[in-house]
Amino acid sequence: MRTLKNIFSRLHEYILWALISAVFWSWIFTMVTDAAPEKKVSVFADTYAVQDAALAAELQKSAPEGIRMVKVHPFSYAAFDSSTLTSGDVFLVRVSDLEAFREDLQPLPAGLPLLRGRTAASADGEILGILIRRAGESGAASEYLAYDAPGEESGDWALCFGRRSGHLGEINDSPDDAALVIAEALLALPGSVPEGGEAMAEHADAGTAGEFILGMDVSSVIAEENSGVVYRGFDGEPCDLFETLAGAGLTHIRVRVWNDPFDAEGRGYGGGNCDIAVAEQIGRRATAAGMRLIVDFHYSDFWADPGKQKAPKAWEGMDAGAKAEALYEYTRESLDRLRAAGVDVGMVQLGNETTGALAGETEWPDICRLMTAGGRAVREVFPEALIAVHFTDPERSGSYLWYADRLAENGVDYDVFASSYYPFWHGTLENLAAELSSVSEAYGKQVMVMETSYPQTAKDSDFFGNTVTGPGTAAAGHPFTVQGQADAVRDVIDTVAAVPGGVGVVYWEGAWISVGGSSREENSLLWERFGSGWAASFAGSYDPDDAGRWFGGCAVDNQAMFAPDGTPLDSLRVFGGQRG
Ligand code: CA
Repeated sequence: MRTLKNIFSRLHEYILWALISAVFWSWIFTMVTDAAPEKKVSVFADTYAVQDAALAAELQKSAPEGIRMVKVHPFSYAAFDSSTLTSGDVFLVRVSDLEAFREDLQPLPAGLPLLRGRTAASADGEILGILIRRAGESGAASEYLAYDAPGEESGDWALCFGRRSGHLGEINDSPDDAALVIAEALLALPGSVPEGGEAMAEHADAGTAGEFILGMDVSSVIAEENSGVVYRGFDGEPCDLFETLAGAGLTHIRVRVWNDPFDAEGRGYGGGNCDIAVAEQIGRRATAAGMRLIVDFHYSDFWADPGKQKAPKAWEGMDAGAKAEALYEYTRESLDRLRAAGVDVGMVQLGNETTGALAGETEWPDICRLMTAGGRAVREVFPEALIAVHFTDPERSGSYLWYADRLAENGVDYDVFASSYYPFWHGTLENLAAELSSVSEAYGKQVMVMETSYPQTAKDSDFFGNTVTGPGTAAAGHPFTVQGQADAVRDVIDTVAAVPGGVGVVYWEGAWISVGGSSREENSLLWERFGSGWAASFAGSYDPDDAGRWFGGCAVDNQAMFAPDGTPLDSLRVFGGQRG
């Protein structure tokens, strides 16, 4: 009785506590739920996280549609376009030098404060916040920048690292786990998947490719070896080229494919005589070495580029409709052959540098019709492979979005919008980044540099003049040295890695070196017989104006990443450096 009376007399206290508790929990509930619904959640992860294949896979596995991940290369935050941060984005980043980072990332979008030790609600309520942690201090959560309360009045969330985080609890101290933990925490919050998830899902595709593609085009390798070239390892001993490239950190090998690069007598046009049979050989060896193949269909019998997009001999006289059907059949048969050979095809290109033409067609509806036919074959034979389109001349500002618009209005199905980028021709890296970003942001496509290269010397080594000789052409800011070559490549990798949706960089013909003779006459015999020069005289019947007049040897041996004796240059190590 006394107890009951006691309870009764203190009832107002219980009621008061219940009220306080209700207010408290409703506040918590508001923090976790109501505050969020209008926010879209995008996760920007630094490349330390996403370059780790296992972690990237984990991260992706737990990221449903609506989580956008954008890679920011740890060495080049400056290249990251902070204006791509949009309302509600979360930007996960780890830095060892906050001040340097702050300077790099300027100018920050309006209302995106970058504060040490706290995530701040933006003044205008548009930007969710920015999360900072320090790198390399494992084992001590106190070393991470700690959580601090957001400006609740704005309704924003705050998430961060550190033991004081009421939302996340304790964070694994392993630096590379941090992005994963944050992502999981984001996913656990109600309302984290935005309205209209379709568009965001495309962005998720664009930004979350897991492993960054580091590729090399070695289309000439079979002709080179047939001409007597011996490739070596870093120790100078003979070594399978593909083993050397895989060991150097390359993930993909690219090969161009011409329909029928032979004249009526069966003599090769040169440039590696790259038909599907050659591609199969290269693909088998790349696969055996653990690398994936990028198949570059030119849909021509010889070089296709902005200057020429000539239809294969077998398709001459066809209208666009018949050509599309022939292209589909050719693509299907070619890929069937690679599949039967066990080649690990990771990506297929629908044309090469198709800047306004493809297989003789010059109207965009027709070009797109051909691309669509090729893409259909890719989806059928290698449904897991990415479909790429490939353009060039990024220095023509605005052109890439224009191309993407044409592809979109004609319904072309593709995953990757790829560019050539030769630093001595193609404008600044900033412009390249802007051009690629324009496509990834407008259409959610993955973007990459499909061809790049840089001279490591001004000298020629095969008695056939090179395209870029410098120093007059050294406009890209690096000397024509091995170090300059490595630096130039690193610049391109850093730039693409920092572009939203940037998925890779492929070095062009990095193993195309002199066939080793001591005179032009001696080399010429090999170029003609094995196709190891850029063009053999036999190409004149198909391409009289260019190959027919200027046929000969290799014009890019000074851009190879191998010395004339087949030993890799130290610049080849640039790819390993990118894999941490
Ligand atoms: Ca040369």
